[in-house]
Amino acid sequence: MRVAIIGLGPSGLMLATLLNKFNIDYFAFNSGKIGKKLLQSGNGKCNISNTNIDIKYYHNNELMKKIINNKNKVFDIFKELDIYTKSDNEGRLYPLSESSQSILDIFMSNINKDKIIDLFVEKIDIKNNKYYINEYGPFDKIAIGLGSIANYKTPYNYNCLNSFKLKFNEFKPSLVGFKLKENTKLISGVRSKASVSLYNDNKLIHSEDGEIIFKDDGISGICIMNLSSYYQHLSNIKNPKIYIDLLKNHKYNSLISVINPKLLKYIESNNLDPNKIIFNIKDTYSLEYAQVSKGGIDIKSLNDNLSLKSDKNVYFMGEIIDCDGVCGGYNLFFAFLTSILVAEDLKNEISN
Ligand SMILES: Cc1cc2nc3c(=O)[nH]c(=O)nc-3n(C[C@H](O)[C@H](O)[C@H](O)COP(=O)(O)OP(=O)(O)OC[C@H]3O[C@@H](n4cnc5c(N)ncnc54)[C@H](O)[C@@H]3O)c2cc1C
Repeated sequence: MRVAIIGLGPSGLMLATLLNKFNIDYFAFNSGKIGKKLLQSGNGKCNISNTNIDIKYYHNNELMKKIINNKNKVFDIFKELDIYTKSDNEGRLYPLSESSQSILDIFMSNINKDKIIDLFVEKIDIKNNKYYINEYGPFDKIAIGLGSIANYKTPYNYNCLNSFKLKFNEFKPSLVGFKLKENTKLISGVRSKASVSLYNDNKLIHSEDGEIIFKDDGISGICIMNLSSYYQHLSNIKNPKIYIDLLKNHKYNSLISVINPKLLKYIESNNLDPNKIIFNIKDTYSLEYAQVSKGGIDIKSLNDNLSLKSDKNVYFMGEIIDCDGVCGGYNLFFAFLTSILVAEDLKNEISN
């Protein structure tokens, strides 16, 4: 059996590593820098997972509900690959090296470099139940980990998927900042700790604590990016707002040493309540600024083993599947878990 892996992000890298270990013949096709987003993750420190993996941290989580009982497999493989980790007080896992490069190096040292082909996959042809990647082939199985277009400046196409019967949901930015209707130019660059809440149609959708960062025309920060993922999954967006509490129930005689001077001036001159500053959301920033995207292969197109219902020889893994997690290592975890399950299925196919 020969497998084509398409895409060498975290999901393709994990799959290639495991196929190498299982002695399964493969070729991996990737265009652009291998593991580019892995290198960017956790600000270069590689937030590879979280100790609190739970379906509640995933949107569109029907598939995740079915596979989450395999979660320890990810941590077992980390051990097998000698990936030693530490967690912060929110359960975010990082390698002890605090370097994404070291995780990429571990994967690359477990993959046969001769099996990697630098190629933008434009088409996949199917002849006599065999698969051809551009002009390379034949392959018996293909595993697709093309990721999403989040954070890419150049437009990508997913034309190579046209050979398959599947439902593809439009990509939308998730884990991204918000553009606001209010003018925030005067406080652009200001950072502050706050409790933030997303309201839609006057209903509380989600709250988080964390650092907010004002932009010329909007707001960002990890807690805001998490709100954006809830926003993107709203079925009906109506008068969306962000409530910001800068004081979190503390009482102060004076706010001079409590709130950033630029922000305090903005609050005073606009007659705002620092316990409840309300901003009106115009939109999210675009996909090129997002860490992940909502959208991709509709999970109803997939079997529980991540193969396509319309073609059991074709598997999907990672972010190209329409399931997204919040910040904190949940998206890399999803990429790793799905690729481990694909690898196990391919191994079982051979032994049966
Ligand atoms: C700035 C940033 C920070 C992030 N931080 C974190 C974090 O701290 N923790 C976390 O869990 N997640 C984080 N993420 C998200 C995480 O990196 C992604 O969810 C993860 O990389 C998805 O892995 P993947 O293998 O599915 O796809 P990708 O990483 O997107 O890899 C897909 C690969 O396929 C290649 N490709 C695409 N199209 C083609 C084609 N037609 N032919 C050939 N090759 C192709 C791409 O070039 C790429 O190499 C972050 C993302 C970004 C952008």
